[in-house]
Amino acid sequence: MLLRCGSSSSLIFYALFYLCSVSAISGYKDTDEPTIRTMNEFSGYPFDETQLHSQALIVDGENLQKQIDELATFSDTPVPSVTRVLYTENDVIARRYIKMLMGLAGLSVREDAVGNIFGRWEGYEPNLAPVASGSHIDAIPYSGKYDGVVGVLGAIESINTLRRSGFKPRRSLDIIMFTSEEPTRFGISCLGSRLMAGSEILLKALETTVDNQNISFVDAARSAGYAQEKNDLTSVFLKKGSYAAFVELHIEQGPILEDEGISIGIVTAIAAPASIKVDFEGGGGHAGAVLMPYRNDAGLAAAQLALAVEKHVLESGSIDTVGTVGILDLHPGAINSIPSKSHLEIDTRDIDEERRNKVIKKVHDSAESIAKARGVRLAEFNIINQDPPAISDDSIVKAMISASEELNLSHKLMISRAYHDSLFMARVSPMGMIFIPCFKGYSHKPEEHASVQDISNGVRVLALTLAKLSQK
Ligand SMILES: [Zn+2]
Repeated sequence: MLLRCGSSSSLIFYALFYLCSVSAISGYKDTDEPTIRTMNEFSGYPFDETQLHSQALIVDGENLQKQIDELATFSDTPVPSVTRVLYTENDVIARRYIKMLMGLAGLSVREDAVGNIFGRWEGYEPNLAPVASGSHIDAIPYSGKYDGVVGVLGAIESINTLRRSGFKPRRSLDIIMFTSEEPTRFGISCLGSRLMAGSEILLKALETTVDNQNISFVDAARSAGYAQEKNDLTSVFLKKGSYAAFVELHIEQGPILEDEGISIGIVTAIAAPASIKVDFEGGGGHAGAVLMPYRNDAGLAAAQLALAVEKHVLESGSIDTVGTVGILDLHPGAINSIPSKSHLEIDTRDIDEERRNKVIKKVHDSAESIAKARGVRLAEFNIINQDPPAISDDSIVKAMISASEELNLSHKLMISRAYHDSLFMARVSPMGMIFIPCFKGYSHKPEEHASVQDISNGVRVLALTLAKLSQK
């Protein structure tokens, strides 16, 4: 009423304002008691707060975009790039921002000993295991503003959307911001969710883990206000069954949805990564003086192993098997010096754990035979991590499909080739993931982009999926 008044001339405005106020006051006086109207009367149809009409799900996409842009300014590098590394000043500010938004959404906020942040909307049956959603906000150097962020800010907006619709959850809904999905600072990816999933190996490793400035994990965590009690990191562990369901919203980080013009990707499995570090040591020597028959070239051993990785991956016969040598360092790294040492880092993934482990075995055999043939020493063959793949839970997949259908959004089933916090949450909870298209599949660079429309679609599907799962 006032809005309409405001668009008229000031005289009419004041006249109407007076009338509005008087009628409001006199209306109140006439009945003695304030009028209570039910949701049924307001909506015009029978309204059950536990049920949700998909039309009632209205996402504030513009505001969400504003938040994404704002969060992107908490960065060590200038816009449009984002660099936000674990426990740095900008990470701490960004965390404060997330907690503030959770508070504004009416969530009760808590943090664990490594800074995983939880915001809870309590259900009307708070003793049941809650349903959760979330992702990460840390960003590798010079990356974009959507990876992970869409799944944190989007999940908070899904709560706002549900609240606006009048919905009341049966199970509590938890929004989680996971600590350090990216391995930038300590070389450990999905640190927060991996620890939540109860990784004893990680717990042990964190005692001695340092960054490249020789700052220990625990000191870094303390500087950001976490890990205050000695040895309290086990408190991060979640018991199996702590959550009834976990759903992560994420940009696809691949081109399929955009190419095919599809709004929603429903993830059925997350490929399982393994990473391996390899060191060869040879004789080195002068590039002119040491003749070819007398060389033990550690660099050529590395080059040969890189090609062997490709060969073994292709031999698997499945398009789902991939392998990459992303790091290949030669020592001493001079044009006129035969490499005396070489270092490779190999990443291999598959949705079939056995098939991937076969590749690792073959790569190991090759490393040994190459070393022997070239007279170099295989100084290290270290499998840094060898995570099992995760399969999405059937009932969550069904909920995501019916949410997409009810919202009239095109969707397809797909595999996540990148891995996410969901991979680890799957160890303690039934899991599902929702993908949205992103520009040309770009990710981990400043050109990373998702449209307001696509993000809003994702948030609506997430909201409806969470609503369905919370009623089960
Ligand atoms: Zn991510």
